[in-house]
Amino acid sequence: MATAPAAHGDDSGRDDASGSSGSSGSDDDDSGLEPGAELAEEAARYARLGWMRATSGNLSVVVGTDPVRILVTAADVVELDGAGVPTGRTPTGLAATPSASAGGSRTGDRPRQPSAEAILHARLIGLTGAAAVVHLHTVASVLAADRFPDGLTLRDHEMLKALGRAAEGDPVRLPVVTNSQDMAVLAERVSAAWEPATPAALIARHGMYVWGADLLAVRHRAEAVEWLCEWAVRTAEQTVSWPR
Ligand SMILES: [Zn+2]
Repeated sequence: MATAPAAHGDDSGRDDASGSSGSSGSDDDDSGLEPGAELAEEAARYARLGWMRATSGNLSVVVGTDPVRILVTAADVVELDGAGVPTGRTPTGLAATPSASAGGSRTGDRPRQPSAEAILHARLIGLTGAAAVVHLHTVASVLAADRFPDGLTLRDHEMLKALGRAAEGDPVRLPVVTNSQDMAVLAERVSAAWEPATPAALIARHGMYVWGADLLAVRHRAEAVEWLCEWAVRTAEQTVSWPR
């Protein structure tokens, strides 16, 4: 299988999660939205695309450091320890805005535990240095994982530039991992399959995880991953040969 190339410009898989400002990134800062509202707006955008059907999918963004704090859709705020592992504590002083995919606000007095999905978001943020993670259930990503269970290698596509990679002569491997209902197990699998220069992973019979420096960057990457998966599947159906 392809090994991870070294450096690929300023948008490589390992993001500069400077994040010290506690914001979600420079591009989306222009929106003037609070992180919770920004998260909800972004979730609504994916929902309109049909990429978060049946309340599936979730988004997260880093909202603080030392300790790292992550705002996750479904209104969870997760605190991480120094190793990027969820502490199980829910930080106070940050209003978590229910997202478009959330089932409503939580009762204020009940102790809150990080959602199961938050574990994987937290792991990816700790592993990759990303400041935003998006998880989506798209048809093309699932079809691609079915068709290429050992991973999908793409090259010579203009769309690869959206992943921070070269449009020519730069093989990009999208790892595929087996699904699990145990999010800790799934987090281990995604971590083990992580390609440092590829800011995405496919989960078989499930969907995709994509990460980056902010929600806007991740959106562009998610759209590119979806496009590339659709292309790969359609091409395979047509039995047209293409570089792998
Ligand atoms: Zn999911």
